[in-house]
Amino acid sequence: MRKLPRVLVVEDEPSIAELIAVNLRHNGFSPTVVYDGSAAQREVDAVLPDLILLDWMLPGESGASLARQWRKNDRTKSVPIIMLTARSDESDKIQGLDAGADDYITKPFSTQEMLARIRALMRRRAPETIKDSVQVGELTLDAGTYRVSYRSQELKIGPTEFKLLHYLMKHAERVHSRSTLLDKVWGDHVFIEERTVDVHVKRLRESLCDASCMVETVRGAGYRLTVQGKPVMAA
Ligand code: CA
Repeated sequence: MRKLPRVLVVEDEPSIAELIAVNLRHNGFSPTVVYDGSAAQREVDAVLPDLILLDWMLPGESGASLARQWRKNDRTKSVPIIMLTARSDESDKIQGLDAGADDYITKPFSTQEMLARIRALMRRRAPETIKDSVQVGELTLDAGTYRVSYRSQELKIGPTEFKLLHYLMKHAERVHSRSTLLDKVWGDHVFIEERTVDVHVKRLRESLCDASCMVETVRGAGYRLTVQGKPVMAA
């Protein structure tokens, strides 16, 4: 029998945490609820979850700070994170994504929306969709081992940036619009704004270090991965 996907719920409001857990349980997930950052870290150290639902405002360490740490750590860097936030301000959403979250949900949210986003993120991470390896110039991506390297040096990269890079590398030298990228990389993009693509492209460039110029912005059109990239101008 297939193991149920483990979802770690980090939420300090017991009524919300319980509501989330009940809905996850009824929909084929195995949730674990913790109420603060240190308990979350202990849980992650004990068992690596398949996905983390992370509240932004927690007592003690903030959700954003936890997300940043998990992204830096080799063991946890590829665990999908959905940020739960009471803030609907655009800049706060972008901050959440910048901290390393793959998606965010604004409170109050419907359980249907939450489940749809969890499923979309898990589909994106599904191993059967990414098995091959690709090379463009000196940049190599091996989807089987989940590794990206440039000039034989391994690069750290988050799950969404990995999928984005994989798509751009498979279709190198072509320009892709934001909506095409949402469709091909995010798949189920009903809840995602085009601006999200820009945030992940920015993070992708940061992850690529010396190869960052391979990801080109084509004004008014979208993005392109190219061997002969020009240095990215500061915005
Ligand atoms: Ca909270």
